[in-house]
Amino acid sequence: MVHAKKLKITALITGGAGFIGSHLSDFLVGKGYRVICMDNLLTGKIENIKHLLKDKNFEFVKHNVTKYINVKGRVDYILHFASPASPADYLKYPIQTLKVGSLGTHKALGLAKEKRAVFLLASTSEVYGDPLVNPQPETYWGNVNCIGPRGVYDEAKRFAEAITMAYQRYHAMDTRIVRIFNTYGERMREDDGRAIPNFIGQALKDIPITIYGDGSQTRSFCYVSDMVGGIYNLLISSVSEPVNIGNPDEMLLLDLARLIIRLSRSKSKIVFKELPVDDPKVRRPAISKAKKLLRWSPKVGLKEGLSKTIEYFAGGKSGDTIPISLHKISRK
Ligand code: UDP
Repeated sequence: MVHAKKLKITALITGGAGFIGSHLSDFLVGKGYRVICMDNLLTGKIENIKHLLKDKNFEFVKHNVTKYINVKGRVDYILHFASPASPADYLKYPIQTLKVGSLGTHKALGLAKEKRAVFLLASTSEVYGDPLVNPQPETYWGNVNCIGPRGVYDEAKRFAEAITMAYQRYHAMDTRIVRIFNTYGERMREDDGRAIPNFIGQALKDIPITIYGDGSQTRSFCYVSDMVGGIYNLLISSVSEPVNIGNPDEMLLLDLARLIIRLSRSKSKIVFKELPVDDPKVRRPAISKAKKLLRWSPKVGLKEGLSKTIEYFAGGKSGDTIPISLHKISRK
C-alpha cells in the first residue's frame, strides 16, 4: 500500500519507469510535485528512474495496474502511461497490451474517480491506424484493422479513449487524452525495435541499417522534451477532448536512415527487409489544436534531437541530464 503525503501536489504516473513516463517523472519532480511512479517493469526499466529513487518527493511502486490499485491519501493527477508501446513489444506481449489498455485504464480511472483526481490518458497516433488522410487531425476517425497484429495496441488504446470519455460524461470527471505521435530521445531501449533506436544502434556498430519495405513510408519524429512539455500543458489545461502532440516535420524512412548514417559518421549500408503487416504508409500530426489551445509547438529540430540521442546510445549514459524545454501556457 502506498501512502501519499498530505500537502504536496501528488501525481501518480503509471508506466513511470518507461521511456516517456520516466521523463515525465523527472519533469514533475523538478516542478515540485510529489510523484508516485507505478510500473510492473515489463518493458520499463529501473535504470530510467534510479537517479530519482533517493528523492523524498519520488516513490516507486512495482505494480501491475490491471489489478486493483491501492493508494492512500491525496492524489491530484493520474497520468496513465502504462503499456508496451513499440510495435515489437506489443507483438511480443499482445494479451498484456490489451489488458493494460482496457482493465488497466478501468482501474486507473476508478482510482481517479475515488481521489477526484485529474486523469490523463496516454493515447497514440495508432488510433488513426493506416490513415487515409494526411496529416491526421483529431477529428479523423481512423483506419484500423481490429484483427491484425497491431490491433492489440490500436484497439486497446481506442477502448481506453472510449472508457475515458464515458467516465468523463457519466461521472463528470476531469479528463485529458493526449494522442502521442512518434517520439524519440534518451532512455529508449536499444532493443525496443523501433526505427530510431534500431538505426542508431546499427549505425554505431557499422552494421547494415534495416529498412522495412522500400523506405517510402513516412513518419514525423518528436524529441522527448518537446513531448513532455506538450503533455504538461495539456495536463494543466481544461481541454477534455483528445489533442495530438507530435512534431509535424514529416520525412521518408529512407531519409531518416541516411540522416542517422551521416550524423553518426557511420559506414553502414542500407538493407531492405519485409514490411510488417498493416505498417502505416504515412503519419503526420495536425497540431493546430495544440498550438491554439495549449500554446504549444515543438522546439527541437530533428538533427539536434538525433545528435543528442546518438550521443546517449554511443556513451551509454543514464539520460537524466537532458534539459527539458519549458512551454509557457496562459492559465484561464
Ligand atoms: N522500421 C524500419 N526499420 C526498422 C524498424 C522500423 O524500417 O529497423 C520502420 C517501420 O516499418 C515503420 C517505421 O520504421 O514503417 C517506424 O516504425 P517504428 O517501429 O519506429 O514505429 P511506428 O511508427 O510503426 O509505430
